[in-house]
Amino acid sequence: MDKANSRQTLQKSIVFNALHSLKGHLRAEDIFESIHKDFSQISRSTVFRILGELVKQKKLLCLHVPYGALRYDLRTDEHWHFQCKNCMRIFDVPKTKHLQPPKMEEMPNFEVDECSVVYLGLCDKCLAKAKKAK
Ligand SMILES: [Zn+2]
Ligand SMILES: [Zn+2]
Repeated sequence: MDKANSRQTLQKSIVFNALHSLKGHLRAEDIFESIHKDFSQISRSTVFRILGELVKQKKLLCLHVPYGALRYDLRTDEHWHFQCKNCMRIFDVPKTKHLQPPKMEEMPNFEVDECSVVYLGLCDKCLAKAKKAK
């Protein structure tokens, strides 16, 4: 392995370790900041590039959510999400059989690659707070 290659492998494992220790649904910025604390020589663009590569290799899920920036999720099996409109936290929702995304029968010339479902509402903590305030 040449020098550039081994450096890339090292950077990749640093990003992967950060994802594992941070857990959850992370913004690229959070991932970069956590890495930057220990490895200031790794640039923001390097971290973002590696995240993109991991998504392409299906080792990481890239999640578009209605509120805030893109999130990265280490859980790559098919699952849905819930986002709290108040604290903006994201929760995993187990995919249930009875809730299937509608088929695109009306659009036969379109091809669907993936389908992501994000429920919106208030999480348990925010709901409890809202009830107390009433
Ligand atoms: Zn909340
Ligand atoms: Zn998730």
